[in-house]
Amino acid sequence: MGNRNISKILCFHALILCLLSTACYEPVANRSADFENKRETVSFEPENKNIANKEEVANVSNANVDPISNKSDEMSKPIEEKVNKAAGFRGNLTQNLSRSGLTISSVVDESSPVEKRVFEEYGAVFLTKATPPDRAMFTSESEVSTFQSKAGAKRANIGGINVELQSAAAAALESASNDAKRQGLSITPRHPEDSARRSYAHTLKLWTGRVNDACRHWKSKGKLSGEQISRLKSLPIKQQVAEVLELEKKGIFFSTYFNKSILYSVAAPGTSQHISMLAFDAKEFGNKKVRAIMAKHGWFRTVQSDEPHFTYLGYREDELPGLGLKKVSTGKGEFWIPNI
Ligand SMILES: [Zn+2]
Repeated sequence: MGNRNISKILCFHALILCLLSTACYEPVANRSADFENKRETVSFEPENKNIANKEEVANVSNANVDPISNKSDEMSKPIEEKVNKAAGFRGNLTQNLSRSGLTISSVVDESSPVEKRVFEEYGAVFLTKATPPDRAMFTSESEVSTFQSKAGAKRANIGGINVELQSAAAAALESASNDAKRQGLSITPRHPEDSARRSYAHTLKLWTGRVNDACRHWKSKGKLSGEQISRLKSLPIKQQVAEVLELEKKGIFFSTYFNKSILYSVAAPGTSQHISMLAFDAKEFGNKKVRAIMAKHGWFRTVQSDEPHFTYLGYREDELPGLGLKKVSTGKGEFWIPNI
């Protein structure tokens, strides 16, 4: 039950996810500020170097696709065979992963606190109709490149900015963007450089920047010694993540303001849904009408601590409960998380 204890410390919406820890509670808006701070302090490196094959990146922005009619047709196709209401999250997940020759145990190591958390709290992405990530935590650039090449990247022009996503996700996002335009609204990337596809290196850089800041802070407070810090930094990344979460159990927090879990500030390296090219951060996340348009095209918010973050599932909203997801409504709107 050690994993459950970690969740207790890390979770935000306890009623839904685990248990509320008042020590690390802060309004969602403040957590978004963390994400902003994190971005502003970490430089970005272009990710095009990670495209294994440039020819894979086909520009779909000019594709002969009627954004609404095609998508609406696709979304309204009967897919009952894919939704097994009695199976719940795990049953539907087993079914969906089997399309890619995967099983739950091949994708997630549930004995790992980090992977278990990714799976139980942010696991909606594994139900996507597109190609689900083949592991809960990527641990190298080559693993990410292999997955991204296999899944296939497509470019879409969203709000005048090119982004890269899996083809189904890219087409659906373009449809949503065009739909929004027709309603006098807009959908645009929250940050031009990294709102969709990300490399492993990028997720690692975000993580490392946060760990380094926290180490400096806790050393100055006398809570971590130089020796402890050297050891922490020398650990293989998976162990380093586990060690950070252990330290946080003792109140040595690694978030931007050192007052809550690092996972409220940055995803563990290799666990970001952006790696799977199934996530998009929208500037207009606060607009309910925009969220409804995104949902109509199969894009839903599935990470409670990350308001601008949408995940491509490809299903109609009324199908999500049957897939084993539950809707969590907060002051910041609605999120879909595994019903487990
Ligand atoms: Zn995101």
